Amino acid sequence: MTLVDTHCHLDFSAYDGLRDEIIAEAAASGVTRIINPGSDLDRSRAAIALAEMYPGVYAATGVHPNSTADFSAAHLGALRNLATHPKVVAIGEIGLDYYWDDSPKDVQRAAFEAQLDLAATLELPVIVHNRDASDDVLAVLAAWTATLPAALRDRPGVFHSFSAPQSTAERGLALGFYLGFTGPVTFKNADDLRRIAARVPADRLLVETDGPFLTPHPYRGRRPNRPAYVRFIAERLAALHAVPFDELAAQTTANAERLFARLGQG
Ligand SMILES: [Zn+2]
Repeated sequence: MTLVDTHCHLDFSAYDGLRDEIIAEAAASGVTRIINPGSDLDRSRAAIALAEMYPGVYAATGVHPNSTADFSAAHLGALRNLATHPKVVAIGEIGLDYYWDDSPKDVQRAAFEAQLDLAATLELPVIVHNRDASDDVLAVLAAWTATLPAALRDRPGVFHSFSAPQSTAERGLALGFYLGFTGPVTFKNADDLRRIAARVPADRLLVETDGPFLTPHPYRGRRPNRPAYVRFIAERLAALHAVPFDELAAQTTANAERLFARLGQG
């Protein structure tokens, strides 16, 4: 049994002094591979540095919508160079965030579209952050997926830490996207999210921690979240899909390998 934690911000300072321990702990519990998404240029470089240091760590490179206020052509060029690294498996995390006010909507959208175009050029899938922006995210992605190269058509990317209504799930799935689930699917008050997760086709499910945030039950509230805890999310999804844990683990791992082709076989 192996699992892939498809989204953990190992580069964040919450993990300073803990990385050797938590990466070893994860591997010992079957979580042999971890994808560290970038949230801005420096953090993308830090993710690549960790991928070079730890065999089981992979990186994504991108500028998070909350960090796009000064996004420029120079950023895009730097991202293009970073993304040629062999352990960069995706462009991300990118998207729209209307909850926070850190960057104007039109600026977020321009940065999102520019990074989507880069992903298409490089034939890399995208890790999408969507917070309170489902309609605009779906509109941008619908336009993007209409022009995708063949290599990405059935694996354009993932809605990471899915937390939107059922209709968004359906529209995202129809565009070919995978859905990633995090700690909230284990929370007591999350019946709506569990109903959505139960209906996602098994071959489109991904598990992720989004560490250091969103620590799942039974450790909810404890910081930082740890990649080993992605098991609790997989266990909950197995129950929701009424399949044995090992089957759900194998399925989500195969899904991660299919979507993030540079992960290879582990
Ligand atoms: Zn994230």
